[in-house]
Amino acid sequence: MSVNLLDFDAEGLTAWFAQQGEKPFRARQVLRWIHQRGECDFNAMTDVAKSLREKLATMAAVSPPPTISDRLSDDGTRKFLFDVGNRNAVETVFIPEDDRGTLCVSSQAGCALECAFCSTGRQGFNRNLSTAEIIGQLWQANRALGSHSDASERIISNVVLMGMGEPLANFDNLVPALHLMLDDNAYGLSRRRVTVSTSGIVPAMDRLAEACPVALAVSLHAPTDGLRDKLVPINRKYPLAELMAACSRYLVHAPRDFITFEYVMLDGVNDRDADARALLHLVRDVPCKFNLIPFNPFPASGFRRSPAERVRRFAAILINGGIVTTTRKTRGDDIDAACGQLAGKVQDKSRRVVRSAGFATESTGSPAGVELRS
Ligand code: SAH
Ligand code: SF4
Repeated sequence: MSVNLLDFDAEGLTAWFAQQGEKPFRARQVLRWIHQRGECDFNAMTDVAKSLREKLATMAAVSPPPTISDRLSDDGTRKFLFDVGNRNAVETVFIPEDDRGTLCVSSQAGCALECAFCSTGRQGFNRNLSTAEIIGQLWQANRALGSHSDASERIISNVVLMGMGEPLANFDNLVPALHLMLDDNAYGLSRRRVTVSTSGIVPAMDRLAEACPVALAVSLHAPTDGLRDKLVPINRKYPLAELMAACSRYLVHAPRDFITFEYVMLDGVNDRDADARALLHLVRDVPCKFNLIPFNPFPASGFRRSPAERVRRFAAILINGGIVTTTRKTRGDDIDAACGQLAGKVQDKSRRVVRSAGFATESTGSPAGVELRS
């Protein structure tokens, strides 16, 4: 079976090359071809010795997940659906803005953490993505956006691990992908422009601080353990006091001097004035910013989006309390690419698309997913 070179960061590729009797600079050369130029044909890697090219062609491949669909929204948001095998599909969303282009990348097919308001969580867990499947989303998007080869015209300037799945529950495959995002021989992004979003897996936050400290976003969503236990069930394992302490520890290593707290605004659930005031108290020792996310509905979610005026009022309390607070614009609505809409509808779509591509019809084995889709 051939080795997929997208599974290796620089260290891994150097070690694999060494096993083949090849020098480290050869690994760097090939890394640049793959990730900077978007090349998957070894024969085209013209400055690599012909004998090595021939050897690679027999032993290895550059195999990103195949694109199932690529859709452009009216507001410029572009959504890719990638086939990760066994009837699973994951999504990647490109969000262009004036001063940057952000790629929202998935880390798992499904998610095991079952946050109450998240359609990915409702569909259940399928499996971890491999390093190749994580970095392959960036590789493919770069290619589709025509931004390979010239770093000065980088179209994707930021990457956020905010697609499907909990990145820190897939730590071992995530870290080499992060290394590649940062590597000057690959994507060369600064640590501040790569953000991991987590629901708060405390031990993995500490490991990330050691292994690859990038910007961190923490999905908070509630000011008290009572409410967070219900909305974000992992809170029962790592309650708020532990989470806040982990945030403080992370900041010692972090490339930015604040944590971003994400807070989905659920009408009548977590959006009262008292909740905002309780948040101010909760985060009093953690330098942070808040990003309020208007809830994106999906079928049978059981939640409603907070009215805009409520969100404004909630934000004002946080701002008056001295915390920089932004409210996320909902983008990509028309192509179901908004936060948290990814999975539920995707399941429907991927079934349609997948069917037409000749695969079997069911995209997950999750009973919850099946229920939602009907
Ligand atoms: N598992 C990680 C990253 C993926 S989710 C995490 O939970 O942080 C990315 C963000 O979208 C999280 O803050 C998540 O809580 C939020 N989100 C999930 N479902 C949502 C929905 N229906 N509407 C708005 N935001 C949602
Ligand atoms: Fe998983 Fe994040 Fe969704 Fe929670 S919000 S179920 S952790 S993807």
